[in-house]
Amino acid sequence: MPKKSSGKAQKYISKSPTETKKIASKIIEKMGMKGTVCLYGNLGAGKTTFTKGCADLFGIPEKSIKSPSFTYIREYETAHGKVYHCDFYRLAGKNIIEKTLRELQEKEKAFFIIEWPEKLQQLSSARIDITISGSGEDERVIEVVEHIENI
Ligand code: ADP
Ligand code: MG
Repeated sequence: MPKKSSGKAQKYISKSPTETKKIASKIIEKMGMKGTVCLYGNLGAGKTTFTKGCADLFGIPEKSIKSPSFTYIREYETAHGKVYHCDFYRLAGKNIIEKTLRELQEKEKAFFIIEWPEKLQQLSSARIDITISGSGEDERVIEVVEHIENI
C-alpha cells in the first residue's frame, strides 16, 4: 500500500525531562490515545522519558516503564485501553517478535509506542514518527511527522 505523509512536520523544544513528558502527553492525546508511535533518537535522547509522559496520560505509573532489556514488548491494561511499549534496542535480524507485534497491531485497537523502530524490517504505514535530538542536560528538539495510510 502506498505511503503518504501529511507533510506537516511539527517541532517542539523541550528544556527538561518534565517538559518532554508534557509534550508527549499532549501529542498522544491529540492522536486519540491509539495508533502507533515510532520513537527515533540516540541512546539517552529521551525516548523512554517521552514514553513515561504517554504513560502518565494513560494512568500507568512511570516507574513501571522500563529501559532496554530482553523484554521487547510490555503490555499495560488501562482504563483507556491497552498500551504496548516496545523497545527493540537489542533485537537482531529478522525476528519472530516482529510478527508478534504485527499480529497485535492487526488485532488490537491499542496504543503502540516503539523505541528503536529501525530494528524492524517493516513499519506500519499508518504511524507517527517522532525524532528526538539532543543529549546530556541540553534541550531536546522533538520532531513529529504523521504518516497516513492511503486507502
Ligand atoms: P532513551 O530512551 O532515548 O535512551 P532516556 O529517556 O532513557 O533516553 O534518557 C534520557 C536522559 O536524558 C534522562 O537521563 C533524562 O533525565 C535526560 N534529559 C535531560 N534533558 C532532557 C529533556 N529535555 N528531555 C528528555 N530527557 C532529558
Ligand atoms: Mg529508552
